[in-house]
Amino acid sequence: MNYEMFLYAFVALYGLCIGSFLNVLIYRIPNNLNFAKGRSMCPNCKHILGVFDLCPVFSYLFLGGKCRYCKTKISMRYALIEILTAVLFVLVFFVNSFNLLSIIYCLIVCVLIVIGFIDYDTMDIYDTSIYILLFFVLLSMFVRGDILIKDHLIGAIMISVPMFSLAKVIPGSFGFGDVELMCVLGLFLGWQNTLLLFFISLLLGSIFGFIITKKMKSGEDKHFAFGPYICIAAFVTMLYGDLIISTYLNLFM
Ligand SMILES: [Zn+2]
Repeated sequence: MNYEMFLYAFVALYGLCIGSFLNVLIYRIPNNLNFAKGRSMCPNCKHILGVFDLCPVFSYLFLGGKCRYCKTKISMRYALIEILTAVLFVLVFFVNSFNLLSIIYCLIVCVLIVIGFIDYDTMDIYDTSIYILLFFVLLSMFVRGDILIKDHLIGAIMISVPMFSLAKVIPGSFGFGDVELMCVLGLFLGWQNTLLLFFISLLLGSIFGFIITKKMKSGEDKHFAFGPYICIAAFVTMLYGDLIISTYLNLFM
């Protein structure tokens, strides 16, 4: 195995472990549990989990997707979140190479995974998570140094302000959490990529929104969380936005 492969394997393994921690945050934050204190336990039988139950993905495969103690099926989602984190970490380093900025991008990925899944579960985006995201975004802008501040300030307001007005005029169209998320990501990505971000999230939101609302019974509340689609679109845009935009523009030249 050459040196670079070793680094990517290390990043992937690190991603699995961080993903495991993100699972804890996604489960504990909406349930008002302290995520720093207390050992992890099975949500069904409350058995405290040992080291061998907590190995990301491997425990899941080894235990056949069941709790070792009560044999209750464990949601596959835990393993999927770990794999998602690992894949995104590897892609971040693959696209931006091994440097400080990539580490900050990975932290941004982590916050977005937590925001996306908590929003999916609870239809709520916590202000604290937006502040943490903003902190890492500002840090990334500071480390990059070469950015055009004006492009990023325009990015921050160009979609979020119309979304805010829409949310005011038509209550329930967008949540204010979505507006804040779009504002911070706009600041992060600059206005060109923010347009792409909005386009992709609307596309995903309408496809999945259509599927989700179709499955619901007629009397049910037709609302669904938009945050997860903004987060998926943000992963695509932060990794491949520039490539997608330049490919698209080249079609017309
Ligand atoms: Zn159990």
